[in-house]
Amino acid sequence: MAQITKKIELAKAFLDAEELVAIPTETVYGLAAKGVSTKALKKIFEAKERPINNPLILHFKDIKSIAPFVSELTEEIHTLAEHFWPGPLTLLLPKSSQVPEIVTAGLERVAVRIPNHSKTLELLALLDYPLAAPSANPSGYISPTRPKHVERLLGNKIPLILDGGPCDSGIESTILGWEGNTPVIYRQGGIPMEDIEKVLGRKPRIHQKSEVLHTPGMSLSHYAPNTKTIVTKDILEHLQHYHDRDQKVGLISFQKHPMAQKSIAKEIVLSKDGDLEEMARKIYDAMHQLDSLGLDVLIIETAPEKGIGNAINDRLYRSASINKDN
Ligand code: AMP
Ligand code: MG
Repeated sequence: MAQITKKIELAKAFLDAEELVAIPTETVYGLAAKGVSTKALKKIFEAKERPINNPLILHFKDIKSIAPFVSELTEEIHTLAEHFWPGPLTLLLPKSSQVPEIVTAGLERVAVRIPNHSKTLELLALLDYPLAAPSANPSGYISPTRPKHVERLLGNKIPLILDGGPCDSGIESTILGWEGNTPVIYRQGGIPMEDIEKVLGRKPRIHQKSEVLHTPGMSLSHYAPNTKTIVTKDILEHLQHYHDRDQKVGLISFQKHPMAQKSIAKEIVLSKDGDLEEMARKIYDAMHQLDSLGLDVLIIETAPEKGIGNAINDRLYRSASINKDN
């Protein structure tokens, strides 16, 4: 325990000194910097090679500390906060002048959330500023859900990785904002739309892929392995195709397919019982594993289209080099 505390103190020292620290959250590992220091924030963009027009989410310890960074906190925001924070819900709110330009890429709203991970909450409690923290991976690549993913991808660029074990939820946060009075989901994620609808008492609109794209995180290609990736409902047809061409195939499926074995170099079944939360927790780790094997092609089966399955499919479709269903 003493050692853990020391690590957190070390993390604070680096962050105070405007250096980067990788932090655990329940969604994915974040690459954190002091959220009020443009000098520190620039280091995030450099390390990730992130386009400067891709805004950052600010992470806070509690709702009281969010207040100075936004222009108002409505009753509806407090209701959502009570139900979902700490947790994987990010709110897009009109920003105050305290928010550095680089955080929002010049946009009028700032993205805020309270993450649900004991170590990061302990760290935030020691700080008198929020942490900006996008996923701790090179821009456009698969998000990290374990310390070893961060080590492999960015280990030489950051002084400290705070080890908090594997991420519990495994998919990025749901991003919610308002257009006029209408709640809009800009990114599906760890909190399913159905749960938000229950709390708000009305259906949020889902921002469509065909609408103007605001940021790279919402662009159609992201979260992508280096290996050619096919995302499909019908894996058997694709397995046959690559089998006939003698290709080395990796398969990520959501359930066991008895007929599938013959043509697969490596298969990962995400959940034998069809448990959506388990699938979300494991999907990025499975992609990291298969992407490091030098295979010819990855075939990934889409998740059932309900609850967090919708967020998983959103990420899968963006990760695909060939998307057969969309
Ligand atoms: P991540 O890289 O997972 O931390 O997510 C950051 C994503 O949140 C960005 O790529 C945007 O899609 C979204 N985001 C963050 N801040 C804003 C903002 N001010 N306006 C619109 N979208 C935002
Ligand atoms: Mg990211």
